[in-house]
Amino acid sequence: MPLATRVFVSMALAAFFASVTMLVMPDVGGLGPPPSVPDALSWVNRGVMQPLFLVPAVLAAVLYAFAKTRPLPHGLIRARSSLSPMGDGLSKTQRLEATRSAFAAQSVGADGLVLAELMVDAGVRTGASDIHLHPLKDQATVSVRIDGSLESLGTLDLAQYAQLINRLKVLGRLTHYVTDRPQDGQFTLDTATGNAEVRLSLLPTQHGEKAVMRLAGLGNEGPRLENLSLPESVRAQLTRMLDKPQGLLFFTGPTGSGKTTSIYASVAHLQQTRGALAQIATIEDPIEFSLQGAAQTQVNRAAGLDFATGLRALLRQDPNVLVVGEIRDAETARIATQAALTGHLILTTVHADSAPGVFNRLLEMGVEPSVLASVALASFSQRLLRKLCPHCRQPEPPTDEQKARLEAFGTAPAEYFIARGCDECGGTGVLGRAAVFEVMLMTDELREELKSNPSTQRLMSVAKDQGLVPLREAALKRARDGEVSLAEALRVSE
Ligand SMILES: [Zn+2]
Repeated sequence: MPLATRVFVSMALAAFFASVTMLVMPDVGGLGPPPSVPDALSWVNRGVMQPLFLVPAVLAAVLYAFAKTRPLPHGLIRARSSLSPMGDGLSKTQRLEATRSAFAAQSVGADGLVLAELMVDAGVRTGASDIHLHPLKDQATVSVRIDGSLESLGTLDLAQYAQLINRLKVLGRLTHYVTDRPQDGQFTLDTATGNAEVRLSLLPTQHGEKAVMRLAGLGNEGPRLENLSLPESVRAQLTRMLDKPQGLLFFTGPTGSGKTTSIYASVAHLQQTRGALAQIATIEDPIEFSLQGAAQTQVNRAAGLDFATGLRALLRQDPNVLVVGEIRDAETARIATQAALTGHLILTTVHADSAPGVFNRLLEMGVEPSVLASVALASFSQRLLRKLCPHCRQPEPPTDEQKARLEAFGTAPAEYFIARGCDECGGTGVLGRAAVFEVMLMTDELREELKSNPSTQRLMSVAKDQGLVPLREAALKRARDGEVSLAEALRVSE
């Protein structure tokens, strides 16, 4: 199809021709509104306009290509919104198929930059969290991770793949000639759906460098508390803590548990509620998302900038909110607790197994129990669970093994659900993810207990008396509510 061709879609015409879903018209200069039915019919009769018979996936691919490069005439707006990742017009399968066709059609002969854009765009449109590029002996595979599982998007020949990797290295400001050791970078790419923040990681393999592009944020709309599908109680607890003028807020959970997202969403909340009064500075490794109006600093160990030195430097600028990517050494822990004592609200992550476990980690790092007791506000432990597709969800009794585990936990029998897969969820049974939380809010009793340097078990038991709901119980509740499968809830209970 020549580039100069204008594309029009008319819902009325689609209905009239039944299977005609698109009309292609030679470029007659200017892009008007979609033609009326009589006009279009007369154009078809006179040979000015030629009907094209397309299956929906191809139509979607063409529209996608079209929408990428220019503003849409208003008749196409509806079609475009149904192609967007948030649009509910297409099921997950349809969206993935449309994206696959678009990728197959547009990747032919594309150079490195176009390929990079295509992929990021495909990731955005399918709602993927990351894009995996894997070189094999004869070709390279491209896949997207959607709701936690990898879906194939297509393949590239090795020459094109090499071009793409070179372009990604340029974008991520990585060393071009280094191919034998891992490299990490990041860049922002303008796509049809807005600016995408990409974290790039390259890893040498036997057939070349494997790349993972993690999509961290889109446009100006970063993570928001209201979009995290937090239980209402957790959201209320978190926002109450964020209103405090000073103190330490801890987030913990394994890699990929969404704790960084929670921190970014919290910062967005602070910016919203405090406005210009929020002087926010961060020290991160890596910076996963650009925060407008915040001073973000990237850890650079080669240049002697680690969390501790970075944090000390930030404090000289006297921000009132600080994000410290991670506390994992005594020095950072000491500076952070001191800062929290002197009028700073600090959000940070600590590696621990549970919300109370965070405190033992800090005590192990040599933080004074009494200091910790006075500066800690709360600790949030979280995991991401794959949500059941509501379209194909059905009740399913627990297996004997699951029953035994539930009994061991002392959980009362209940109804649970599974999803076997349908068109809406691409046959996976999964649609979206939900964060499950264990929240430990500091109370006078917990502060008192903390001063005596307690074990994690002891702290957990006091916290439970003070209202803490353990992660396992929070996850099992989500399973009983039919939001996640029992297997998924039990997975985080180990
Ligand atoms: Zn389904």
